Order: sequence, then C-alpha cells, then structure tokens
Amino acid sequence: MAPVPNQNESSNDKVIIGSGPAGHTAAIYLARAELSPVMYEGMLANGVAAGGQLTTTTEVENFPGFPESVGGSELMDKMRAQSVRFGTDIRTETIAKVDFSSRPFKLWPQFAEDEPPILAKTVILATGASAKRMHLPGEETYWQNGISACAVCDGALPIFRNKALAVIGGGDSACEEATYLTKYAEIVYVLVRRDELRASNIMQKRLLNHPKCKVLFNTVATEAKGDGELLNCLRTKDTKTGEEKDLQVNGLFYAIGHIPATEIVKGQLDLDEDGYVKTKPGTAQTSVRGVFAAGDVQDKVYRQAVTSAGTGCVAGLEAERLLAEEEAE
Ligand code: FAD
Ligand code: NDP
Repeated sequence: MAPVPNQNESSNDKVIIGSGPAGHTAAIYLARAELSPVMYEGMLANGVAAGGQLTTTTEVENFPGFPESVGGSELMDKMRAQSVRFGTDIRTETIAKVDFSSRPFKLWPQFAEDEPPILAKTVILATGASAKRMHLPGEETYWQNGISACAVCDGALPIFRNKALAVIGGGDSACEEATYLTKYAEIVYVLVRRDELRASNIMQKRLLNHPKCKVLFNTVATEAKGDGELLNCLRTKDTKTGEEKDLQVNGLFYAIGHIPATEIVKGQLDLDEDGYVKTKPGTAQTSVRGVFAAGDVQDKVYRQAVTSAGTGCVAGLEAERLLAEEEAE
C-alpha cells in the first residue's frame, strides 16, 4: 500500500534556499514562469543578512546596468523587489535540515526541526559562501576601510590607488588577487606564512615574475593599524626569526580561502575536497536529480555577483524544464 501523506506536511514544490544574486535570479525566472517559487531567505544564516554578501559592501561597480555604480544593499533590495513582483513567496527563515534521499525532498526551518517538514519537488541551493577572515587586532576597525577579502570587488577604490597594498595567502586566489591589484597599486606585498606557495605553478610564476609584486615568505601579520579611520600599516612577524616589523600599506586583502555554506547538505550531495557543491559542468545539476546549485556555493573560482546571477538563471531554467518533463511523463 502506498504511504499516506502526512496532512500536516506543507508542500512548496519549488524551494530556493538562499537570497543572494543566485537565489533571487532563480526566483525571478521561476516566478515569471508562473511556478510560484518559495524562497527561504535566511535569518542571518551563515552570519550573513538576507540579501547575501553584497549587503556587507558599499559600492558595486561591476554589476552591469549601473554605470554610476550601485550600493550593495540597494542592489539586493532591487533584486528582492523583482522576485516579489513576479510572485515569489519569501520567508525570512533559515533552513536548518534537509533530507534529499527521496522525492519529494524534505526541509526543516530553524526552530521547527521537530515539526512536519516542508516538501519540495525541486530545490535550488543558493546559500553562498563566506571569505575566511583572520580576526587580527584592529581588523574590526579597518574592515572595509582598508581591509577587504575581494580584490576584484574593491581593488579599484580610490583609497587603494597608487598605494602599497598587502595580500595574505599563498594559494591561487592570492596570486590572482595580487596580480589583479597591480593595475592600481604602486606595489603589492604578498605575505605567505610558509616558505613556499600553495598555488599552481603557472600562477606562482606569474606572481614571482611580476615587477610590482614582492612575496614575503615566512611572514604573518599580527596587527592592522591606522589612523582610526583608514588602515595604513600592518605589523608583521617573521615566523623563522621572530623579528617584528611595521609594513606601511594602505590596503590589506585576505586570500586565505572561502567557506561554502554547505553544512546542511553534507553527506547528501557530492561536494568537492573544499566543500563546494559539485555540479555537472555547464549545468546547475547536482548529484541528486531535482536539486540544483547556483552561485558561490558551487563556484570557487569567479565568486562574483554577476556569475552568481548567471548560474541562478541556469538553475531556474533547469528546474522549470525538469518539472515540465516530469509533468509530461
Ligand atoms: P550570497 O550572496 O553569499 O548569499 C547567500 C544567502 O543565502 C545569504 O544571505 C545567506 O544568509 C543565505 N543562506 C545561507 N544559508 C542559508 C540557509 N540554510 N537557509 C536560508 N538562507 C541561507 N561581487 C561582485 O560582483 N562585485 C562586487 O563589487 C562585490 N563586492 C563584494 C564585497 C564584499 C565585501 C563581499 C564579501 C563580496 C563581494 N562580491 C562582489 C562577491 C559577491 O557578493 C558574491 O559573489 C555573491 O554575493 C554570491 O552570491 P550568492 O547568491 O551565491 O550568495
Ligand atoms: P587555498 O586553500 O588554496 O589557499 C589558501 C592559502 O591561504 C594557503 O596558502 C594557506 O596557507 C593560506 N592561509 C590559510 N589560512 C591562513 C592564515 N590564517 N594565515 C595566513 N595564511 C593562511 O585557497 P584559494 O582561495 O587560493 O583557492 C581555493 C581553490 O580555488 C583552489 O583549489 C584553487 O586552485 C582554486 N582557485 C583557482 C583559481 C584559478 O584557477 N584561476 C583562482 C582562485 C582559486 P598554507 O599553504 O600554508 O596552508
């Protein structure tokens, strides 16, 4: 006998988890297709406000359509309004637990883990990622006032132009960020905590041969200092000799890795060695049919608002196509 569905269980059919550019773009596509998506936008989920990482920044200068730039929160408010305009049902709740072992999928919001689950035929995971920070003394004062975790986002700001800058990290991101910053900076110091880089050979060569980059091996930062408003100095320490110095820099960029928000899907979706959701190349399809992933949660290379929106679009269209195929069957 077929199991009797629990009448208390609520069915939302097309659920989006996360509310950054990826989630909202997916919502706009599903809502315009009259598929009535439900978005769980999160309540400070993963330490980020609803609207995602862009709510933590000031001006966004590289999102197409805004020639004079747009505030990060303003851009996300506009995306949210567009999702709502076409009929997305947005709930300010964080999804705390999922069960993707059979369809319909089951989801439980935070504080309701013991209640009957929300049921969904398709789920779009757009929970994003967060840059790792070092929490140096002084970091809180100068965060976004000289300290950033995204060179592509912030490197062109006037406070960094023709100045000495520092990047911390020794991976591909650090190499990429440092060489990118040479466009604006006078010199870029790269602080590497060990005596070697972790980055791929080609990226290492590019960094080490760049006339404006200076790699400081065996060097860690111990304090961020400034005039109270803007950063102007890093206290550094040589890990071999213990010698401490002041390094005069007006910018500090962390490139020590990101943490994708995949805690709730661990063991249920295939993840790569760094915890990012694996998607079939060129699609938003995960290892579970009916579950799609978009945005930074599945992208450790580009991590931009526009690429997140792009993959959100792919996820929305693929979810729509899958539902249409299944209905036809
Ligand atoms: P996110 O923006 O990370 O949003 C994910 C959302 O999902 C968050 O609100 C989170 O709280 C929520 N969430 C997580 N888990 C759950 C859950 N379990 N349940 C419900 N909700 C959940 N990119 C640019 O292109 N240009 C820029 O100028 C730029 N500037 C930046 C400045 C800063 C300071 C930072 C940190 C990033 C910047 N970026 C910029 C990068 C850009 O913000 C990201 O690439 C983009 O926001 C990723 O979008 P996303 O939709 O994947 O997820
Ligand atoms: P990685 O984890 O590869 O590198 C992080 C770096 O930061 C390491 O050198 C690590 O040092 C250092 N680090 C970590 N924590 C600290 C700390 N507290 N203090 C000082 N240094 C610290 O991260 P990436 O973001 O560079 O790369 C992630 C993945 O994305 C990789 O697979 C990379 O190949 C890929 N990627 C590819 C790009 C490309 O192909 N163009 C561009 C960007 C990323 P240690 O080595 O000592 O552990």
